[in-house]
Amino acid sequence: MTPELSYLRDRLIAGRAVLDELTQSRPESKFIELLEKLDAALNELQTGTWGTCRVCHEQIPPASMDEHPLMSICLECMSEEERASLEYDLRSAAEVQKRLLPDAPFSCDGWEVDYTWEPHGIVSGDHVDLVCPSSRNGSYHLVLGDVAGKGIAASLLQSQLHALFRALAPVRSTLPDLLGRANQLFFEATASCCFATLAVVRLHPNGKVVLANAGHPRPLLSDRWGVRPIEDASLPLGMIGDASYTERELSLEPGDTLLLYTDGLTESWRHDDEYGVGRAAAALRRASGLPPHELLASCRSDLDDFLDGSPRGDDLTMVAVRRVMSIAE
Ligand SMILES: [Zn+2]
Repeated sequence: MTPELSYLRDRLIAGRAVLDELTQSRPESKFIELLEKLDAALNELQTGTWGTCRVCHEQIPPASMDEHPLMSICLECMSEEERASLEYDLRSAAEVQKRLLPDAPFSCDGWEVDYTWEPHGIVSGDHVDLVCPSSRNGSYHLVLGDVAGKGIAASLLQSQLHALFRALAPVRSTLPDLLGRANQLFFEATASCCFATLAVVRLHPNGKVVLANAGHPRPLLSDRWGVRPIEDASLPLGMIGDASYTERELSLEPGDTLLLYTDGLTESWRHDDEYGVGRAAAALRRASGLPPHELLASCRSDLDDFLDGSPRGDDLTMVAVRRVMSIAE
């Protein structure tokens, strides 16, 4: 098996683990069917028939397999029914993604968190999660990522990130350590062809937040001095195996808000004009007194006003973290 195929196998296995867990709690037929297709693809990888059309025995174009690694019949040989089944797989993958989303709004330890998650197509490459502490004195971790890729392939990568951070966040001592380990595992599992930008925030009960950034758009902080981006960026996950990361510590007072977002916000275009960080910061400044849910709605509607009917070109996720009161640690 070539290295590329063995990386793909690892990704399918990771996606399978997530799906398997989901199927055990909710045995719905669409998830069971998707699980069967994952197993079939894994079997084809083992026997060397992966990527070969079952009907004409020709090679399926790599671009199709990249986006839809579960495909076993080329587009030319597909019946109407089989095309519909491809679409059905995508919808099932989208369902899996929705089930992985954290509950919101969420409040704990003097923090309030809310988010919006809007895929551009059927599935999203954006990843958002809130990892709860495994022990009484542990911290909450907020994760926002954006994986490169499309279709089922992107959703598999996203499942992989989900599983990775759920496993690593509670046991890794510092964020650079957490990101370094996640990068290493992600790199090994995906080859350098796939990468993800990601920001992770650790929330402490005393108002302290620790933030680390792997190539993700800079979060915006709104506090009594105004709105500013938090500078701190390293390489995206999955680009090189031994990337190192840094962390930033901030102390938020009641009323301060941190806004995290994917590039679907700032890199939205209307004709030849980009929305940009400046507009996002101005929208946050105007909404800074609002609770997370309303603040997000206000920022979102500023983007809509800017777009003025032009279609969005990317997945969009925004997360607002607001300090609501002080609690001594
Ligand atoms: Zn064919």
